[in-house]
Order: sequence, then C-alpha cells, then structure tokens
Amino acid sequence: MQDCLFCKIARKEIPANVVYEDSNTIAFLDISPASKGHTLVIPKKHCETLDKMDDKELNVLISTVKKVSKVISKICDGYNVLQNNNRAAGQLVDHVHFHIIPQYKESPIRVLEKSKPEISKEEMNQIKERIKTLLK
Ligand code: 5GP
Ligand code: ZN
Repeated sequence: MQDCLFCKIARKEIPANVVYEDSNTIAFLDISPASKGHTLVIPKKHCETLDKMDDKELNVLISTVKKVSKVISKICDGYNVLQNNNRAAGQLVDHVHFHIIPQYKESPIRVLEKSKPEISKEEMNQIKERIKTLLK
C-alpha cells in the first residue's frame, strides 16, 4: 500500500533497524521501545488486521514470530507477544504487526492492566453463547 508506514519500511523507503528478513516477512526494532529489544514482525504484503489475513500468509508470519522469539528468549528473562487490532485495541499502524517485548527481571513491564472489570455470570454466559454461535 502506497502510504502505509510499514509497507514503506518493508520496501526500504524508510530506514529501520532490521533484525531479520525473508521473502514474505521482516522484523525490526520498534522506534519507541517498551523495553530493550522490543521488536515488530510484519508481513511484507499489506493487510490491516489479523482477522483479514490469508491463513497461509499468517502461518508464515507466525513462524517468523517464533524464530525471532526464540532468539529474544536468549537475551532476556521472558517476553510478551502482543498484537493490536483496530483503534479500540490500541492499533496505531494499520498494517498487521506482532510486538515481541522482552522482559527483564530487574525492570518488569505491565502489558496487561491488573484491574479487571466486573462481569457477571449471566454476562459471561451471554458472551460465550454469542461467540460460539458466530464461530459455527
Ligand atoms: P500499535 O500500537 O499499532 O500496535 O504499534 C505500532 C508500533 O509501531 C508502536 O510501538 C510504535 O512505536 C511503532 N512505530 C511507529 N512508527 C514507527 C517507525 O517509523 N519505525 C519503527 N521502527 N517503529 C514505529
Ligand atoms: Zn502496509
């Protein structure tokens, strides 16, 4: 996509600290890292959100996420894999990307808020049925 920031990185029109690349995927350091080594993994082909991705292309992408995660696991004490879809979920760049966020014992980062909303048993059942039905 012409004006997409991550497409531009994939096409090398914008510089990035690339750590891995193959014909379908590319991984580079986040410009505003949550921790040292925070890496983004993207498909070279533009797609806005995970749910819209072709299954085969997603399999290839997740293989790269695993490959990079394996290496990151050697340089830190743990790591989070995060993937945001749409503005409500905090997606700022509309090109699918997985965040790999290294965690270090001495400076842990909270990627999920600990405070959770109250959800009644009835609401849990309703949402369960809705998701199950839509998955059929
Ligand atoms: P999102 O909020 O969409 O899941 O994450 C987008 C990520 O892209 C952010 O963590 C942000 O720091 C990163 N980012 C935004 N612009 C650039 C850029 O030009 N280069 C790199 N390397 N990362 C970027
Ligand atoms: Zn794009």
